[in-house]
Amino acid sequence: MMLIPTHHFRDIERKPEYLQPEKCIPPPHTSPVGTMWFIRDGCGIACAIVTWFLVLYAEFVVLFVMLIPSRDYVYSIINGIVFNLLAFLALASHCRAMLTDPGAVPKGNATKEFIESLQLKPGQVVYKCPKCCSIKPDRAHHCSVCKRCIRKMDHHCPWVNNCVGENNQKYFVLFTMYIALISLHALIMVGFHFLHCFEEDWTKCSSFSPPTTVILLILLCFEGLLFLIFTSVMFGTQVHSICTDETGIERLKRKNQPREHTGSWESVKETFGGDFSPNWFNPFSGPCHPEPLRDGDWVRQVTLSDTDNMETMTESEEGKDKDSVEVIDE
Ligand SMILES: [Zn+2]
Ligand SMILES: [Zn+2]
Repeated sequence: MMLIPTHHFRDIERKPEYLQPEKCIPPPHTSPVGTMWFIRDGCGIACAIVTWFLVLYAEFVVLFVMLIPSRDYVYSIINGIVFNLLAFLALASHCRAMLTDPGAVPKGNATKEFIESLQLKPGQVVYKCPKCCSIKPDRAHHCSVCKRCIRKMDHHCPWVNNCVGENNQKYFVLFTMYIALISLHALIMVGFHFLHCFEEDWTKCSSFSPPTTVILLILLCFEGLLFLIFTSVMFGTQVHSICTDETGIERLKRKNQPREHTGSWESVKETFGGDFSPNWFNPFSGPCHPEPLRDGDWVRQVTLSDTDNMETMTESEEGKDKDSVEVIDE
């Protein structure tokens, strides 16, 4: 933690060395644009596999225990199409959320040349992430799992084995929405199936033995309820974050202080990809791509009184988010 008392401003004038850029060696292989993004985290990969397994389990029970043995063909075909379509969209959203770069800041760009090229003016500061050696633009946070700074990072989700940030929040929201919908749909079908089978002979109700059928259906019920609750809460929180334009991390950091960002329809449109259209629900259509970072985006303006506040802020956050700050006051 490097704190700059206000009276020390002069001491650090014209010293890009203050951020120790010599310790920032750009990664040897800068990955070319378009390389697939995938986080190699054992826990995340396991959670992502479990997610797929649970969706495929629901598919199996819905198709082979409930719909195919049913003699009501219209009911089976309509529900089969709806369930499979929603499950396909859920898994497609999951893949897109997992394999999309959430908005990673270039690694190791906190070099002396880069800081000097920004030509900081009086009262301007840059924040350097000491963990990945990058200059953090506003609203970027470091993720210890991805080992990168992520723009507008909301949280790291092990279920999609990725951070939820500026570029993949749409896919994450769609993923939670489609999982909630298939859970609800499966629960309704299980309900109908139980009602129907209590009236009829159980042996005609399913191609499996009655005890196996009941166990498979109860497990599906349990899974459906759990995921319906979990994903609806997540979906609600995410929609609230997008509408108020405040990420989960910013909400946690703000505590009881007044809000910095005010929500706008523009930020909702940016997240979902333009004016309201069916594409908002399409995991194959992306969000509005943010403008590439310009020089001004790396630099943050502070006033002297702000700097006092900033010091207290970084002090209180010691150990949590070790931002280094360089202040140039000429
Ligand atoms: Zn970082
Ligand atoms: Zn992450």
